[in-house]
Parts: sequence; C-alpha cells; structure tokens
Amino acid sequence: IIQVNGLKKDFHVGEITVHALKGIDLEIEEGEFVAIMGTSGSGKSTMLNILGCLDKPTGGIYQLDGISMGDMNKNALAGLRNEKLGFVFQSYNLLPRTTALENVEMPLYYNGRVRAKERRERAEAALEAVGLADRMHHMPNQMSGGQQQRVAIARSLVNDPRVILADEATGNLDTRTSYEIMSLFQDLNDQGKTIIFVTHESDIARFMKRNVVFKDGRIVKEEWVKDRFNAKQLLAELPVDQDVI
Ligand code: ATP
Ligand code: MG
Repeated sequence: IIQVNGLKKDFHVGEITVHALKGIDLEIEEGEFVAIMGTSGSGKSTMLNILGCLDKPTGGIYQLDGISMGDMNKNALAGLRNEKLGFVFQSYNLLPRTTALENVEMPLYYNGRVRAKERRERAEAALEAVGLADRMHHMPNQMSGGQQQRVAIARSLVNDPRVILADEATGNLDTRTSYEIMSLFQDLNDQGKTIIFVTHESDIARFMKRNVVFKDGRIVKEEWVKDRFNAKQLLAELPVDQDVI
C-alpha cells in the first residue's frame, strides 16, 4: 500500500542544509504493522510526516495506494490524507476546550458528505471501540494521559482509514498504559489496518511485525520480529497493583 523509492528530504535553515533523509527505499504491504526505529535525529518523524502527506519530499518517489504524491497539489494531498490516513501523536494533539466526542467528530467535518447525526454516531462508536463509552463528554484536561491517547486513537479511526501513522504514541505513558495502547493497536492490525509506528524504544517495537531502523537519514537495518510481544498476554502477567487504599 506504500511504496517509497530514493526518498530524500533536505531542510534549509539559514546557511545550513540538513539532509534529514538521504535516499530511503521502503515497501509496506496492506495489513503490515511496522516500527520505524532509530536514535533521536535519525529522520523518523521526517519520514512519517512525508508518509502522512504533511510534508513533501525533496526528491524520490512516494506512492500511497497506487497514487503518486509527486504531482499533487495541497488540496489534493489534504483530501488524500483525510480519506486514507489516521494520525496519533505523542502529545495527543486534542483540542483543549472540546469534549472527547467533539474531538473525535472533528475529522468528519472535513469530509463534507457526512451529516451531523452520522458524525455523532460514528464518533460514539469509535470511542466505544477504544473503551471510552463513559468519557464522551469529558474535556481533555478531565482525562488521564492514557485516556487522552485513546481519544486520539478514536479520532484517527473515525474516517475508517486504510493506514494509521503513529509517532511515539506511547512516549508519555507508563508501562501498563503503554501495553493497553499497544493492545488496541494490535487489535486494529488484526482487523486489517496497516500501522506504521515510530518509536525509539526497542521494547515497544517488539509488539510490531517488522522493524525498520533509521540512522542518520538512511535505513540501516530491517527485520521481521521473532517472538513478537502480545500486549494482552503481557498485561495479564503484569504484577497486580499492591497498593491498599
Ligand atoms: P526524535 O527521536 O528526537 O523525534 P527523529 O528521528 O524523529 O528524532 P527528525 O525529527 O526526523 O528526527 O529530524 C531529523 C533531522 O532533520 C534532525 O537533524 C532535525 O534537526 C532536522 N529537521 C527536522 N525537521 C526540521 C525542520 N522543520 N526544519 C529544519 N530541520 C529539521
Ligand atoms: Mg521524532
């Protein structure tokens, strides 16, 4: 579903040129669950932003679902993004003075064909799917980090995208909550979603099927994960909270 050849990205800041991506070749098939790994500054977010049509490459070819990005204008890119892609970020990126339900409805406003009643129903269903049926009318600051991330995941799902792109989606969460989020992503992948998940944590990458490691703007390692982690199993094995009141 994703085909990248010789992809390059340069940034110019004042006198300095940063070669953030130096020729990336990558193919991702429908139904894959891929971790993009690597140290800070290796180009992971730059790659994800290009895959997400949030930024354009300086060179090379990117095809999403058979459509070549190179010759599309801003509007066409925005349309493609809205139709085929869902996003989840480390910092949740929820609108602050807006309820969970309204946050999740947001992507459907850009899709002019969906009417108010259906918007509401789809947002409710997405929140139910991530286990937040009882938090629909909470504001972001009335929810825990893990709950806010689940709202963000519900928002990424409401358009029924083919591909979900996540950037350090567990970066701000404790171990148990990270596993709960990974359990959601594993379920979504089992249901057929293609997921690309940026992380610098090798433990988190073991929940995915394939790992691609970036270093200094290049891919230096690619491997299928052996002994993949199962989030539900790990959750069951986590020591039960010892706290008494
Ligand atoms: P981290 O794990 O810290 O998030 P990363 O692998 O996501 O790192 P990128 O954000 O992709 O790294 O950055 C890759 C390189 O490109 C860095 O050297 C960074 O300084 C540079 N860079 C990224 N975005 C921009 C920008 N908008 N303008 C200029 N340089 C940028
Ligand atoms: Mg990054």
